[in-house]
Amino acid sequence: MDKWEENFLRDIVELDTNSEQKKNYVECSKIIGKYCEEAGLRVDVFDGKPGGISQPNIVATLNAGAKQTLLLCVHYDVVPAGDVAAWKKPPFKLTVEGDKVYGRGAADNKGNIVAAVSAARDLIKKRSSKVNWKILISPNEEIGGEWGIEYLMNGPPKIRGDFAIVVDSGPAYVSIGASGILAGTITVHGTQGHAGYPFAFNNAIHLSIPLLNVMLDYVDVRGKVESKLLAPPGSPHKNLWGRFSLTVYNAGTKTNIIPGKAEISFDCRLIPEEKPDDVARNLEQFFEKAKEETGVDASLEFMTKANGWGSDPNNKYMKAFAVAVREAVGEDVPMAADLGGNDGHYFTSLGIPTACFGTIADDTRFHGIDEFMRIADYEKVKKVLTYFAEKWK
Ligand SMILES: [Zn+2]
Repeated sequence: MDKWEENFLRDIVELDTNSEQKKNYVECSKIIGKYCEEAGLRVDVFDGKPGGISQPNIVATLNAGAKQTLLLCVHYDVVPAGDVAAWKKPPFKLTVEGDKVYGRGAADNKGNIVAAVSAARDLIKKRSSKVNWKILISPNEEIGGEWGIEYLMNGPPKIRGDFAIVVDSGPAYVSIGASGILAGTITVHGTQGHAGYPFAFNNAIHLSIPLLNVMLDYVDVRGKVESKLLAPPGSPHKNLWGRFSLTVYNAGTKTNIIPGKAEISFDCRLIPEEKPDDVARNLEQFFEKAKEETGVDASLEFMTKANGWGSDPNNKYMKAFAVAVREAVGEDVPMAADLGGNDGHYFTSLGIPTACFGTIADDTRFHGIDEFMRIADYEKVKKVLTYFAEKWK
């Protein structure tokens, strides 16, 4: 990391661009635009201005005169610092200490912005890129991306490319997919009344216990669903698998009242090959059987349905990216699908093969207190991006 890169990172980490207040978006995007221009990139700004509030997206282009265009996806919004007093390093100051840089967004995702832009800067200096670059630097990622990457890809700008790298991930594996989500609530219906007369009412908490006991078997049902894609290193399964968890329990108001209603929310994680509607039907059938078995009066409602996504690891871009990672990192890095969600679906839904890689190692406390980035990971990511661009055929 040279002085220019460090200054770039400092200038943007020191602006609080948390996605709740959105207060320094214009200033931050101007600084990013300035550094992109210094790097030799062409800068275009796209701003959807939702509710009259500016949320500028920057598209920084390296035109190598090539046939193919690589899309790099990074974001400049951050999550709030949270309990500022608990930070040992100030969140909105860049602290460089040994092989680490500290600050909110140092890893997620401002360090990766600097890695992508400075890799482009090196390629421009050497005129060595075999592929055009569009670096998409957006706000709004931490709250869903509607006015960020969604706006760039599906709104008026309609950005297109041949291969996408989401530089908003960790260096331990290349993420080539992510899990889908199906979430909802089970409501157990009883009757409310005075706790002195329990024989006169149907206690919804009591009723929920046998029903949920049967529903717990659905954990095993989901566990048998297996993806073609690998699970991340350290997972209890080799391949990505289906999951089911009960996540919220709401019932009762006072100790002397028999509760008439219990609401239990659940979260299903889907493999990329599954459709949320198919899993919803399967879960509904299982739930109906559980009701019959236990005789409990209950209903089921779905709230969230989101597709997962996956890229074919044998696609030519994915293979070339795997080689770039191996050459730059010096070892084989697995290609796996994420247990959570990520932004790859914005590209794969348009048929653009996508890989995710970046400096956000598991222990970097992203979204936590004293977030940091390892400079070695930063150099690694830069090297991977540069290698891919120089060796592309
Ligand atoms: Zn991020």
